[in-house]
Amino acid sequence: MKPQSKQHFSHDHILLLLQPDEGELINCQACENPISEPFHGCLPCNFHLHDGCLAAPRSLDHPSHPSHPLTLHPTPTYPSRSFTCNACGSQGKAYSFSCARCEFDLHVQCACMPKTTLVGNHPHQLKMIFGSPYKDKTTIFACDVCDGTMDPDQWLYYCGACDFGAHLGCAASNGRPGNDSRSKAAREEEEEENGGANVGWKDSRVEAEKAMFEAERELQEQRIAHQLMLQALDNAGDYVGSSYTRKYYYY
Ligand SMILES: [Zn+2]
Ligand SMILES: [Zn+2]
Ligand SMILES: [Zn+2]
Ligand SMILES: [Zn+2]
Ligand SMILES: [Zn+2]
Ligand SMILES: [Zn+2]
Repeated sequence: MKPQSKQHFSHDHILLLLQPDEGELINCQACENPISEPFHGCLPCNFHLHDGCLAAPRSLDHPSHPSHPLTLHPTPTYPSRSFTCNACGSQGKAYSFSCARCEFDLHVQCACMPKTTLVGNHPHQLKMIFGSPYKDKTTIFACDVCDGTMDPDQWLYYCGACDFGAHLGCAASNGRPGNDSRSKAAREEEEEENGGANVGWKDSRVEAEKAMFEAERELQEQRIAHQLMLQALDNAGDYVGSSYTRKYYYY
């Protein structure tokens, strides 16, 4: 297999396609979760990214925050160097999709979760909703997977017909076998219905690839611009230097 290398705006070096060694514990720089599948990384820097996280776009229009686009930040923008995810309510210290104006922050993995999913113990497709399904926001309700209480401000997967709800994490870890291909088919169907609207949010690979390509091109352009600037500075330096001494001499 030919080694595939990629670039990411958050790291200066080329990232190589790598395979985790057996028993090796590697965490993703972007989402802080362990990596068990082939990934891209920079060994000298101990920098590793899930391929999914690597493909996350630089900017995202997310239906949970329709007023502003979210920007991907490699480090939290707060003095505490951490953020609280508006989707799952837990802290993050790594990459985030953020709206600085509203102090709205999402884990990369929460921002990229599918809009619909299936869980093992429920026959219907669950829809992602961005807060309590009940009108009365003081209603306390529990996750139908783990029985733990749910924060009325946090996101959940929900089936309205059955009033069945699950934490994002509970739904993800109880995914039905074949969940992926089925939910992807469902998502594609939905995409057609929506005429491709809010396609940026869907974890569609094409979009991610496009964004990646854009990011790579941007980086390359920046590098070229930087090089040109250095060259220009060099030339200017020579020129200023010599003319200065020359002038000095003539005085
Ligand atoms: Zn990751
Ligand atoms: Zn590096
Ligand atoms: Zn989160
Ligand atoms: Zn905002
Ligand atoms: Zn739960
Ligand atoms: Zn149901």
